[in-house]
Amino acid sequence: MSATIINGKQIATQLNNETAREVAGLARDYNFQPGLAVVLIGDNPASQVYVGMKVRKCRELGIYSEQHILPEKTSQQELLQLITKLNRESIIHGILVQFPLPAHIDQEAVVAAINPGKDVDCFHPENVGKMLIGKQDGFFPCTPYGVLVLLERSGINPRGKHAVIIGRSNIVGKPLLALLIQKTAGANATVTCVHSGTTDPTTITRQADILIAAIGRPEFVTADMVKPGAVIIDVGINRITDSVAAKGYRLVGDVQFDEVANKASMITPVPGGVGPMTIAMLMQNTLKAAKFSRDLRTL
Ligand code: NAP
Repeated sequence: MSATIINGKQIATQLNNETAREVAGLARDYNFQPGLAVVLIGDNPASQVYVGMKVRKCRELGIYSEQHILPEKTSQQELLQLITKLNRESIIHGILVQFPLPAHIDQEAVVAAINPGKDVDCFHPENVGKMLIGKQDGFFPCTPYGVLVLLERSGINPRGKHAVIIGRSNIVGKPLLALLIQKTAGANATVTCVHSGTTDPTTITRQADILIAAIGRPEFVTADMVKPGAVIIDVGINRITDSVAAKGYRLVGDVQFDEVANKASMITPVPGGVGPMTIAMLMQNTLKAAKFSRDLRTL
């Protein structure tokens, strides 16, 4: 393998330490604690794991957190009432509703009900709009924001580079496009987005200086799709059956790691690449929301 590994776990730990230091500073100087409310409907096992990880990370960093676990049959109106209550709570600065929601609940209505100032996931159209026009007083969605910070802290400046994103979801691909194209430090790339409607994606991915895969297809990106020396960011998290693994499965990304690592200059592993950054950015967004609520944004 010739590529340098981008250690997302290590960078996320640095960032979490910085968050914890700032949180401690708020407590010391202002007797003030950021707070995050996490709402989970139903008993989806993966969602339970994600919610548990977020709440544990809050505890570790000194952020107040509360979990609202509601039964699968919760009506949309009941959920909206809870969100209205959390919007008004002064100890809660960030609200996260864990997706996917049960089919009878309209996701867009839920997102729209969250106070944009507490929308730490950056799903509210107001924050999405702010991100697109380059305003800094909203939030950036956690995974794409994590990718930007990974690049920055690995010494990769996207300015003037051709960044190719595979995938155009509202959660990863589209926000990455919006963030990387901004005329700001840590961005300013020429960005192309490849999706299932793209004719001849390989011709495009081979031009990428920075190739970001966010497709949800195990090991989709092979060495022939990569330009020699490219930086590879693998957002994908896929479970594949593995009879040798204790759990009977293992996690792989959207990139064929072994062969691509022989061609790339830098690459994120899965797990341990983008994954840990997502929660770290959620913690940062919660801190930001808390500081905004007290007008402490210059701290
Ligand atoms: P998604 O909503 O399913 O979107 C997948 C995107 O990939 C779609 O835009 C789709 O195109 C595109 N796509 C699918 N097959 C393709 C192909 N053959 N060629 C080109 N494009 C193709 O997925 P997502 O939510 O963005 O997640 C993507 C991956 O990232 C998943 O593995 C997910 O688990 C992972 N993820 C990781 C984190 C993290 O914290 N690390 C966070 C979020 C997601 P169309 O739009 O044309 O259908």
